[in-house]
Amino acid sequence: MATTERDYYEILGVERTATDAEIKRAYRKLAQQWHPDVNKDPTAHDRFTEINEAYQVLSDPDRRGRYDMFGRAGVGGAGAPGFDTFGGFSDIFDAFFGGGAAAAGGARRGRPLPGADLRYDLRITFEEAVKGSEKEIEFPVLVRCDTCLGSGAKPGTEPTSCPQCNGRGEVRSIRQTMLGQMVNVSACPRCGGEGRIVETPCETCRGEGRIERRRTLRVTIPAGIDEGHQIRLSNEGEVGPRGGAAGSLYVAVHVQPHPSLKRDGTELYYEAQVSIAQAALGTKITVPTVDGAEEVEVKPGTQPATEIRLRGKGVPHLRRGVRGDLHVLVDVVVPTRLSKRARELLAAYAEESGESVETGHGGIREKLGLG
Ligand SMILES: [Zn+2]
Ligand SMILES: [Zn+2]
Repeated sequence: MATTERDYYEILGVERTATDAEIKRAYRKLAQQWHPDVNKDPTAHDRFTEINEAYQVLSDPDRRGRYDMFGRAGVGGAGAPGFDTFGGFSDIFDAFFGGGAAAAGGARRGRPLPGADLRYDLRITFEEAVKGSEKEIEFPVLVRCDTCLGSGAKPGTEPTSCPQCNGRGEVRSIRQTMLGQMVNVSACPRCGGEGRIVETPCETCRGEGRIERRRTLRVTIPAGIDEGHQIRLSNEGEVGPRGGAAGSLYVAVHVQPHPSLKRDGTELYYEAQVSIAQAALGTKITVPTVDGAEEVEVKPGTQPATEIRLRGKGVPHLRRGVRGDLHVLVDVVVPTRLSKRARELLAAYAEESGESVETGHGGIREKLGLG
């Protein structure tokens, strides 16, 4: 199996800005050159697998976007099986070159059914989402049976071509109608569309070609990921029965909320409370940031709902990596309970400023027992 870390663009020999047409052209050329039926070089199998893997990702706008963003972690790690059988090669060959290997055999081969996608719910902390991290996950998954190498047939025996559909995997019925000939094509009921039948099942997997195992994977969580995002790891889902391709694993990310920071995309928000005196005279407050607590100056004369912006203390943008800001919203709190001394001082302050604090039920001095 090709376990290479080469860049997909490099494998296809195209620029990162290549158009879909350029990617397709490069792929066709390389696939023709390295197809193991044509090229007898011992590395041809691996090269062809690698070329297919690269093309599968780069030809799909969604997966290409993820690859650009997350690298292989976004589209499945290296060593992902994918096209590991020559049956798979033939299908690709058919699609592009109209015939070839399978046509020579006479009939279109039925294909193994692909495996199911899996979902893994991963909980991470607020800080891990902002800074990115590596997580090890473990989950049960259906993998290829080692005893029969996925064929489902007992070692020493082989699956046979389905007699009902002659290995095509589909059955056709032709009817004459008033409008002409109607051809009805459906999956073969005998082999379920696979085209092959296991007569002597493998004892390990009972003819399924796959068994359950626990798989451990390291998942790269990119900095800036947010609640509800999913990371798709292609080929890490279940393999299909009897040699079917593997599905994808979707890692659904859940981010624990921060006790005092709120997040909106790349921006973080923190609400700080200061007293009237602190707002008027200035003070220093401690703001929690993802890089640790930070002292922030509140200037003398700060008004209610003033925003202090800590540039670059927010969350990195997933694609661009540029960090947003941390917005500190300063709330000026009016005291509701005052000590006797505090009342006297406030009243003295009001008098000094020439402010009226009459309540209509007697002067403030009287109320305070100073009259
Ligand atoms: Zn088996
Ligand atoms: Zn059949």
